[in-house]
Amino acid sequence: MRLYEAMKELEDEGVFAPQSAFWCCMSCGNAAVPKDKEECLFFHDQDAESAFMSRSVHLAWTGRGQHFVDTLKKHGCEVVWNGSESQKIEVLLTEDEATAVAAIRWDDQDYG
Ligand SMILES: [Zn+2]
Repeated sequence: MRLYEAMKELEDEGVFAPQSAFWCCMSCGNAAVPKDKEECLFFHDQDAESAFMSRSVHLAWTGRGQHFVDTLKKHGCEVVWNGSESQKIEVLLTEDEATAVAAIRWDDQDYG
């Protein structure tokens, strides 16, 4: 899907950008970002859970926010962001994309 294609491209640039829910919540996710990563872009399980109803996902991020938005848009994502460092980047999803995001939950993944 468009969202994961964009995150994959950023990952290839060295950004920490997992293409599935990362940890249960914002604070656990932030704490778990690998220390050698200066930039990150992720959504947590609460966002994955709400994605199906809201048809969007909110990405927490650190780094070049505008570059992340530009990359998301390059892959065809509809993005809502006001340019503020403290604002999450919201990506609007189609029903199929929202279903896919909501289908893979943090607890289901094997990170052992
Ligand atoms: Zn948590």
